Amino acid sequence: MAGNALNIAVYPGDGIGREVIGIARAALDALEAGLGGFKLTYEEHAAGAAYYRTSGEEISEASMKAAHTADAILLGAMGLPDVRLPDGREIAPHLRMRDELGLFAGVRPVKAYPNTPRRLLDERAANIDLIVLRESTEGLFYSRTFGEVIGDEEARETLRITRPTTEKLFDVAFKLARGRKAKGGKGLVTCVDKANLFRAYAFFRKIGFERAALNPDIQFATNYVDAQALDLIRRPWDFDVLVMENMFADILSDLGGGLVGGMGMAPCAELGEAHGLFQPAHGSAPDIAGQGKANPTATVLSAAMMLDWLGERHGVPKLIEAAAILEKAVEDGFTTRALRPMEFGGDQGSADYARALLELIAQTLGR
Ligand code: ATP
Repeated sequence: MAGNALNIAVYPGDGIGREVIGIARAALDALEAGLGGFKLTYEEHAAGAAYYRTSGEEISEASMKAAHTADAILLGAMGLPDVRLPDGREIAPHLRMRDELGLFAGVRPVKAYPNTPRRLLDERAANIDLIVLRESTEGLFYSRTFGEVIGDEEARETLRITRPTTEKLFDVAFKLARGRKAKGGKGLVTCVDKANLFRAYAFFRKIGFERAALNPDIQFATNYVDAQALDLIRRPWDFDVLVMENMFADILSDLGGGLVGGMGMAPCAELGEAHGLFQPAHGSAPDIAGQGKANPTATVLSAAMMLDWLGERHGVPKLIEAAAILEKAVEDGFTTRALRPMEFGGDQGSADYARALLELIAQTLGR
């Protein structure tokens, strides 16, 4: 922290990332001006597919360094399907950030807001409120830069689970469950794996049990990933914190986004021991980019997670308060139908949504 200000490195990225980041920034500015008690400064950096097209690199070393030195990172979305590295992979400098900054814990809330499309007929779907905790530096993503294709006959990737990262991951899971329990949550951590068939997942689960023994105030359960996919449709309201390997979580967190309306409702905090990156769980959505149709909710809620994390980390209660105000403004907005994103057939493009959100923030601050 320089003086009293906390420095935020902002990477708008590609497609709708550029559109939704501006709205989150406006909300953050309104909270800072209206509430006081904290100061955030922002530095914007180029990175991603559009930047690669002009520069030939995914991210410059200076922009990467900024991610290392910032107090937090706010990111839109990176990558475009038609812009590829020579080996065919999409441009994804945020994955390099995960690795370099040790962002092992991807916290992905899946929460049903009022008046958003209920994908399940069961009334209890209104109570969906869970977290997919994604290990984000290992698992099947470990070999993504060096998976091999042997001749034209065979391809191999390596799944990696390490004890230190898995221990830290479960500790984050239990901490999250404890914090949620204090606010009326279930206090339940579920380890999602495929321990019946793979040694790596059995190892993951074993470490889960070891950490569970150190956290007796929180219930611990296990579920195979295929059964978990079924249960996320059958009874998602029964879960609290689901912790799992990188690829499983990549898939199930999109399922989670779908359960509560769509990817525009899926925020994400990627946390390490020394760094935090906050971004919507969705991609650059090239199908709607440039049309002003994106639902900014996921990014706005990611910004709220950033405020909360910074507040706790730096001992600034006003930041935690600002996070709560932003979450309340969003919740109220959906409850009263003041927020009506086009993603669900609403009449608000991103600009109208932004105006309504700023009004809601002003109202919440004024109470
Ligand atoms: P990635 O692999 O980078 O996560 P993706 O290819 O899975 O990206 P997304 O960019 O997340 O795809 O988009 C998936 C679908 O969800 C698209 O139809 C897109 O338009 C829609 N979508 C994603 N985010 C939003 C949003 N914020 N508002 C409205 N629609 C969205």
